[in-house]
Amino acid sequence: MKHALVTGGAGFIGSHLIDKLLAEGWKVTNIDNFDNFYDRTIKEENIKGHFDYNNYTLIEIDIRDFDALKEKLTGDYDVIVHLAAKAGVRPSIEDPITYQEVNVKGTQNLLELAKNLGVKQFIFGSSSSVYGINPNVPWKEDDHVLMPISPYASTKVSGELMGHVYSHLYGIRFIAVRFFTVYGPRQRPDLAIHKFARKIIEGEPIPIYGDGSSRRDYTYIDDIIRGIRSAMDYDRTIYEVINLGNNHTISLLEMVKALEEALEIKAKLEFLSPQPGDVPQTWADVEKAKEILGFIPNISYKEGIRRFIEWFNNHMNHKKFLV
Ligand code: NAD
Repeated sequence: MKHALVTGGAGFIGSHLIDKLLAEGWKVTNIDNFDNFYDRTIKEENIKGHFDYNNYTLIEIDIRDFDALKEKLTGDYDVIVHLAAKAGVRPSIEDPITYQEVNVKGTQNLLELAKNLGVKQFIFGSSSSVYGINPNVPWKEDDHVLMPISPYASTKVSGELMGHVYSHLYGIRFIAVRFFTVYGPRQRPDLAIHKFARKIIEGEPIPIYGDGSSRRDYTYIDDIIRGIRSAMDYDRTIYEVINLGNNHTISLLEMVKALEEALEIKAKLEFLSPQPGDVPQTWADVEKAKEILGFIPNISYKEGIRRFIEWFNNHMNHKKFLV
């Protein structure tokens, strides 16, 4: 039985990955500190099905604490999938030091652990934000002009570079997967689709930063999980950086319209000035992911929104999670 160590496995993306791994018969160790970025009970809900499996272990631990990691994590892991992070662009501007400690030091701690335990495969949850304001879209991995414009984005660049060091020195295969705005059931409550859906239902105005023309390459969670899963099996080269996106952009106003249609409620819009750290567009070239991981995103935005709203209507206590 293969053993995966997943960090941040109580969160949005991590909990979906663990669903898949357990269903495939993997042994899974999840480490998460239930960081207070959003409500702990949401994360407990994400992972409650995992306890039905005997081969699942949850260890509540902070990835900044290297001594605790060394003490508690002594398993024979085939792969580490490192998804734990302080996420979010705007909050990273408020608290850059904590982002640095969790995302950079925390990542290095996990790489050290991989080195000490002899783990030979390391998947790193990176982000489209590393491209920043690079105007050459769609963004390709071999475009070395990274122009991060937030502390969060710079921590992801650091993680990718540190991974190169460990792959070079210690032969740890390091695959950075750059996620492009992930959405779907269990989406983080701070992210626009989830936040806007709640506000529309509550009859509250939606903040539109800028004129609503900013564009995002929204990627459905099931597509992302298939990409991560393929990266876990990838064994041809020792270091890769791979975009996982949808290769299709949607403007902010189009996104709101799709939500209005799915909820059958008209949104109230409040136009505000653009936020520092926000990029005008994200757009993934996914040719490399297709070539080396066989990755083809196949959930359309319309279908993804339909599935998100179905989950949203069934699972959330909207008022409780209003952030
Ligand atoms: P999430 O916040 O839902 O999940 C992250 C998890 O990490 C949480 O459960 C949190 O408790 C845990 N965590 C935070 N700090 C920790 C610490 N110090 N020690 C241990 N655990 C800690 O976020 P997500 O949306 O699932 O994102 C997962 C990863 O993907 C993150 O690395 C994020 O930066 C990256 N990412 C996400 C998106 C997206 O659109 N969701 C886009 C690009 C990159």
